[in-house]
Amino acid sequence: MNEFDLIRRYFTRATPSAVLGVGDDAALLAVTPGQQLVVSTDMLVSGQHFFPATDPEALGHKTLAVNLSDLAAMGARPRWATLALALPAVDEAWLSAFSRGLFALADAHGVALVGGDTTRGPLNLCVTIMGEVAPCVALRRDAAQMGDMIWVSGELGGAALAVRHLRGEIDLGAAAGACLQRLHRPQPRVALGVALVGLAHAAIDVSDGLLADLGHILERSAVGAVIDPTAIPRAAAFATFFSAFDACVLAGGDDYELCFTAAPEQAAAIRAAATALGVAVTPIGFVVAESGIRDARGEVFAHTCGYDHFA
Ligand code: ADP
Ligand code: MG
Repeated sequence: MNEFDLIRRYFTRATPSAVLGVGDDAALLAVTPGQQLVVSTDMLVSGQHFFPATDPEALGHKTLAVNLSDLAAMGARPRWATLALALPAVDEAWLSAFSRGLFALADAHGVALVGGDTTRGPLNLCVTIMGEVAPCVALRRDAAQMGDMIWVSGELGGAALAVRHLRGEIDLGAAAGACLQRLHRPQPRVALGVALVGLAHAAIDVSDGLLADLGHILERSAVGAVIDPTAIPRAAAFATFFSAFDACVLAGGDDYELCFTAAPEQAAAIRAAATALGVAVTPIGFVVAESGIRDARGEVFAHTCGYDHFA
């Protein structure tokens, strides 16, 4: 099978939402008049971002999921994607499973794959995602305001526990399934991100760890935070593994939840929007003037740099 057969068989689908999709020198896209184009790229490198033996269908899912998560954190509606693939060899079983995982998530979010590039090389998966948002309403990192409540969606720490489990450092036992699902099949909070437009000020997706990612919002907004670490929603597995692995909740990456800030007056509307979507949202603290992330007693949290799962 040559490169063009491979592209045709595994990555070419009808793309009614594009003027022109896969097959020409470039795709043609018509942005909805009056909307802003939102663009983000995320690359997954074998051995760095995933274990080489990872199930290819899950990898197809995750390759797109991490990109959808970035658009969710902007409050954008995803529309199109391109895929740059480096493959060590043509493995049809792998390609078939990978594309199945990728297209299943793409279909769930109305995303069309409109182009890409395919080459031989060490396994490397790179998606560029494009979406739309109305002018001046995107959820930016630099928009947190003093007095804002800080919220987190879903629960944190499960993916980091799964990495430790896969490395053989801990045995999660009956809790392994839920944590591995977290790591391999993160659910990007796209609908929540869109619903938060007009309600939240700043947002980020938790990919590197809560303290690191919240830190990006605070730095870009030139503010600080006081948070209650016991309020942070954590994966059920922590009922067993709580005290020894607290760092996974604060600094574990790969959860792809949203962390966002909003004026306290919006709390009821935020809860209502999240409930309507079936997503949990939990307030964990407040934005303050003094830089850094502290607890109520004024202690600065130690793990402010992101935990790198695969370092
Ligand atoms: P070029 O030589 O102009 O770079 P390619 O031969 O690389 O074009 O690609 C041919 C067509 O297939 C292009 O439309 C490109 O966008 C698309 N394409 C290549 N690889 C992929 C892929 N992995 N997924 C989706 N589309 C792809
Ligand atoms: Mg090319």
